[in-house]
Formats: sequence, C-alpha cells, structure tokens
Amino acid sequence: MRACPISCTAVKQQFSTCSRKPKDVNQMTRGNPCQLPGMLPNYDPNDNEAGMKILEDLTENVEQIQQRVLEEIITRNARTDYLKGFLDGQFDKQVFKKTVPVVNYEDIKPYIERIANGDSSNIISAEPIIELLTSSGTSGGQPKMMPSTAEDLHRKTFFYNLLVPVMNKYVDGLDEGKAMYLLFVKPETKTPSGLMARPVLTSYYKSNNFQNRPFNRFNVFTSPDETILCSDSKQSMYCQLLCGLVQRQEVLRVGAVFASAFLRAIKFLEDNWKELCSNIRTGHVSDWITDPGCRKVVSLVLNKPKPELADLIEHECSSKSWEGIIKKLWPRTKYIEVIVTGSMAQYVSTLEYYSGGLPLVSTMYASSECYFGINFKPLSKPWDVSYTLIPNMAYFEFLPVKEKNEDGAQYVQCNGVCKENCMEKETEKEDVETVELVDVKLGQYYELVVTTFTGLYRYRVGDILMVTGFHNKAPQFRFVHRRNVVLSIDTDKTSEEDLLKAVTKAKVIVESLGILLIEYTSYADTSSIPGHYVLFWELTSKGNNHLPVLDPKIMEQCCSTVEESLDSVYRRCRRKDNSIGPLEIRVVQHGTFDALMDFCVSQGSSVNQYKTPRCFKSGEAINILDSRVVTRFFSQKAPFWELV
Ligand code: AMP
Repeated sequence: MRACPISCTAVKQQFSTCSRKPKDVNQMTRGNPCQLPGMLPNYDPNDNEAGMKILEDLTENVEQIQQRVLEEIITRNARTDYLKGFLDGQFDKQVFKKTVPVVNYEDIKPYIERIANGDSSNIISAEPIIELLTSSGTSGGQPKMMPSTAEDLHRKTFFYNLLVPVMNKYVDGLDEGKAMYLLFVKPETKTPSGLMARPVLTSYYKSNNFQNRPFNRFNVFTSPDETILCSDSKQSMYCQLLCGLVQRQEVLRVGAVFASAFLRAIKFLEDNWKELCSNIRTGHVSDWITDPGCRKVVSLVLNKPKPELADLIEHECSSKSWEGIIKKLWPRTKYIEVIVTGSMAQYVSTLEYYSGGLPLVSTMYASSECYFGINFKPLSKPWDVSYTLIPNMAYFEFLPVKEKNEDGAQYVQCNGVCKENCMEKETEKEDVETVELVDVKLGQYYELVVTTFTGLYRYRVGDILMVTGFHNKAPQFRFVHRRNVVLSIDTDKTSEEDLLKAVTKAKVIVESLGILLIEYTSYADTSSIPGHYVLFWELTSKGNNHLPVLDPKIMEQCCSTVEESLDSVYRRCRRKDNSIGPLEIRVVQHGTFDALMDFCVSQGSSVNQYKTPRCFKSGEAINILDSRVVTRFFSQKAPFWELV
C-alpha cells in the first residue's frame, strides 16, 4: 500500500488555509479524498514519512486546528439538549466559551445516566453514542462512564498509528522482529438500555481497527489476538507469556500499557515459569487452558516439543537473582514500552532492576474521555517525559493552577467537587477562567479541560499538567498528578506528586540495603487525635520474594525522611501546631497489593487500566491493607520547619 499522494497537501489545506466555516460534516469533508470525518487526515499508516509529515502539520497549525475542531463540535452538536440550553441556537465560539460552563463529572452524570437508561444519545451528542467507556476514576463508588461514538474508534486508531513513525525515528530495525505486548480485556457489562459499558482498551482491542492494525497480518506481535481477547485474565496472561517465551529470539520490544501491568506479568512469570517451561518442553499446553481460541493458537505457536529452549529458559529463571531477567529471557529487546509517568513513576526502579538497563518508553497520554498526547522523545528518561497534545483530538482548554502557598490555601483554582479522596475546596464556577492550547505559558501548571467530539463539553479531566516546552507551535506537558489524590489532616494537602517525591527519597535508604519498595499507598488516619499519615509499604529483598528482616532504626529513618520531604505546611502542622501526629509506615505482607488490585477490579476497575490508588480514605480497601500488616514503625522526630 502506498501513501495517499495528496494527503499531506490536503492536510495542510484542511488545517491551515481553509477559513470557511463549515455548515455540516459533509461539507467539511466533501471533495477531499484524504480527509476522514472529524478532522482526521487519511494516510497510509505504514508510511513513516507520511506519518511524520502529518505530525509536523498538526503541530505547526495548532491554533487553526483547534479553532476548526471547536467549530466542528459546535456545528454538529449545537442542537443537542445539553448545548441548546446554553447556546440558544447560536453557533458562535465566543458564545460557547461564555455560556457553556466548565464542569465536573457530577454535572454531566445525570445525562450519562439518562443515556444508560435508554434516553436518546442526542441529548448530548448528534452522533449516536454506541457505548459507554468505564473510567478508572470513580463517582459514588462506581466507575465514571464516558460516551463514545463510532467515529471515536477511528480517532483512536489515527492516534495509535502516529506512535509508529515516532518510535521508528528513534529506534532502528523494529521491523526485523516482534513486539511482546501483554494486553488484556475485561468482561463488558450492559446498561439498562443495552449499551455496552466497558473500559476504553477493551473496546479498542475488540474492534476491527485493532485486529487489522498495521503489521498484525505479518505476525509482528507475539500475542495472538485470541490470547488478548480471552476474558479469563489468568489464561490470557499464561498464554501471552508462553507465546512470548517461545518466540524469545524474535522479540525486539516488550511492554504493557502501564508499568504496573508489566510488573504483574513478571510476578506471574516468577510464579509459573516451571509450568511454562514444561509446556515448552513437551509441546503441549496445560490442560487448564480451556479457552478454545487460546488453546488453538497457542498450540500452533508451540508447534512441537522444544526441550533445548525449555532448558535455556529454566536455567535463567532458576537463577537466585532476577536482576536483568528481561534482557536474559528476551536478549534482543531494545526497550520496554510501558507508561512510567504520573503514579506509575514509582515503578521505575523496580523495572530498572528487572530490565537490565533497557530504556523505559512512555509513548502516550490518554484517557477514557479522549486520547490526548504523544511523547515525541520516546527515549527520554521517565522524569523528563513530556507529551505533546495532538490538536485534532479534541478542543483543549486549561485552568491555571496556583502552586501551594504557605498559609495552607493552595491550588486556588485546582478545585473540584469534593469526592472520596479529594480534600480540595470547590470554588464558584464563575471564578474559573480557562486559557487555550496556544496560550499556555512555559513552566505553568494547568488542569486539563476538554471538549470532545463525543459529547463532553468543557469537561475537567482532573489531571494537572505542567508546560515544559514546545514542538513546533504545540505545547508539551509533563503529567504532574491527578487532581483528587491528596492526603490531608489539617490545613496540609499532599498531592500524589508530593507523596511520590517523599517516598522516592525514603526508599533510597532501604534500596541501599538490597530491599525494594514494590508498592505503596497511603491513608489519613484520623481515628486518633491528632490524625497522622499512614503509608502502607510492600517490601521485598532483591532477588527473591521474601519479606526482608527490617531494622527498626532504618525504618524510623524512612518515616522521618518522608516527613522531611513533605511540604512546609505539613511540616508546620506537624512541628509547630502539633495538629499532625508522627507519620507511620505499615509494612504489609507479600501479595497485599495484588489482593488490593483484585478487590478494585472486582469493584469495576480494569486490569489494563488499573493504577494503584496512592491514597485511600476508608472502607474495604483499608481493611484489606490493615489485615495484612506485618509490622509498623513511627517517625521519632518532628521534621524541620521555619517561617520564611
Ligand atoms: P482512564 O480513563 O481510566 O483510562 O484513566 C485516564 C487517566 O490515567 C488520565 O486522566 C491520567 O490521570 C492517567 N494517565 C493516562 N495516561 C497517562 C500517562 N501517560 N502518564 C500519567 N498518567 C496517565
């Protein structure tokens, strides 16, 4: 297949020179064979050069594209019940920004629920909503649900396809071998009206767009689609690892969506390598693999007994230390593709331990609401990763976020409906003023607000981003943290990022003794007065799964280091006001965080999208953690604080 010869010119024309206001979607696309509906340029995804050219055009013409995106969304949807109420028949962008409020999920939830219960989807979207995507964020204990349309699938496909030329630009020869991507689906549910409700990745993996993805027909991926689409996550994991091991010499890259999922796969391998080796040795897949699709494809991959291969894998896996195991089992691997930004950053050192120094690549930033940005420098260190928002994905706005100040009033505009884990105050909606994508300032923090093609208007995603630079005219953002994840006892407010920084400093102390912090979360314990921060830590000795012997002095030092690393409001409360008690670390037994994940998954979280919450408020999750506490330690000295 060759690139559409006029695609780039067409893109340029569509994005940069056409200033006519489209009356409808057809008019926008009529007469342009290289433009799909919804501002999606059409090109051959196998053509790297064409892909790079599209990225250049998109990032050069940000302002025009964003204006066109907003025009198109308004033009399509002005007559929906939701927008009609604000726009009163007008199609004007300024009226839109003046009258349509910036909203949280709670504001749109009634509309989503109406659709879930059988109301017509055109109460919010002119395009039919064909399914609801369940997000990892929750509302009232239930997953949030985001609308999705048929066209949305093409938008995601367009986005995924653009990741390919970026990777090929930095890593040579990826077409000379395979990718071992461990991907999973989750069972779907139906809403009362019969709409499918499922996580965004399950929706995507089950689509034809995924199954016909570029190169799939050439068996470039070690996991056959049947193993990815198997709804039994244990069988899926087992079969994907088996296929990956059998094809180990061909594998050039490994990965999963999030770092946590990849580490879960390593843990699974630790627990199951003997059985996997036995299957490879005999050429016969274990009888408990009963999913017919999986059995069939895995038997084909296994093909025949491979005793030498089994010996080799057994030799590596039976080594006392699993340091560098990825490089040993898949020796040609060039990088590990997993998201290691945001709350995933805490996995970096564990991944580095297992990877033997392979680059960790976070390719993209996306959500159930919308796919947002691409990392144009995929080989940059996890701490330096920035994402460039792709301007034809949605209309982006930004709420400036103030950094914390000394008096404890912080994130002046980083507020929201106070939900389970959110201690931030809600400000009046009238106070909220956004800036556009082209107007964000270097070094500033913002909360992302999106207007999507699928029925979300000026919706607060809840992510705080910082502007780190520009690619052409497109701003690049570092993911800072998710808005609602905070700890608070008094006037202190600790964000996910604050906590990560403090824990990162403290874990260095145990790492130097050969102990890895493999998971953590936190809890504001107010059952005693004053309340105090509790950290749950799962620790392991490097090279095995055993809980290490812990020196109380060292662990108390970890508690103090966390406190010293927290912000000055925390330290003031703790030292001067005595309104916060000594920080506590509760060490939990091995496997606790797996149990926590199982619990969250049972409550509706998806395995693929699961991210350990860095803070819990109360309830069943805390019970799960508390029932597995092995030992606990308290900070023995108040942290340093002085008025500045
Ligand atoms: P979900 O809707 O469940 O897929 O969750 C989407 C959220 O995951 C985003 O709003 C972010 O908070 C987080 N997320 C997604 N991609 C990244 C990334 N590359 N880095 C950090 N956080 C991310």
